[in-house]
Amino acid sequence: MKIGVLALQGAFIEHEKKLIECGAEVFEIRQKRDIEQSFDALILPGGESTVMGKLLNELDLANPVRERILGGMPVMGTCAGLILLAERIADDETVHIGTMGLTVKRNAYGRQLGSFHTIAEFREIGKIPMTFIRAPYIESVSTAEILAEVDGKAVAAREKNQLALAFHPELDDSAAVHEYFINMCRQ
Ligand code: GLN
Repeated sequence: MKIGVLALQGAFIEHEKKLIECGAEVFEIRQKRDIEQSFDALILPGGESTVMGKLLNELDLANPVRERILGGMPVMGTCAGLILLAERIADDETVHIGTMGLTVKRNAYGRQLGSFHTIAEFREIGKIPMTFIRAPYIESVSTAEILAEVDGKAVAAREKNQLALAFHPELDDSAAVHEYFINMCRQ
C-alpha cells in the first residue's frame, strides 16, 4: 500500500510515522510531478487550510487531487484537511477541494477552547483519544455520514472513499484511525 501525504505545510510528518507504523509505504506530495506517479491513497493533514488551499492552487495540485478523489482514491483529511474536503465552509465563500458533502465550521470552538483533548466513541472503532487544535467541527452533512460526535458536535465523517476528521489522530498513541483508513483502502 503506497500512500501519498500532502506535505506543503502542517502536521504531515506525524501522519507519515503512523502510516509506516501500520505497514504502509509513504511518500510526500510537494509538487505536481509527485502526484503523477501511481499510488493507492492520499492524506490531507492538519495545518492552516487557507495557506494549504492557496498553495494547492499555486502549485497546480488542487485539480489533480480533486480528480484522484472523484476517481475513487481513498483520502483521509484531518482538521485543515477536513476543511479542504468540505463542499461548504460556514460563513465563507471559499471552496478548496470540495468533494465531501458536508459543511464545516472553522475555528469552531473559539480561540481559547479550540485546543483540547478528549476520549470519545468512533463508529466501528470504539473509544479513542482525540486531540483538537484550533479545530473545526462538522456543522451539517448533506451526503456524508457522521462517524463520531463530541459534545453533540460531529467531528468525523465518511463518504464512500473519503474520511474526514476534525481532530488529529496522528498526534495520539493510538493508531486505530490510521488502521481504519488502511482497511478502507483495502476494500
Ligand atoms: N484552524 C485551522 C484552519 O482553519 C485548522 C487547524 C488544524 O488543522 N489543526 O485551517
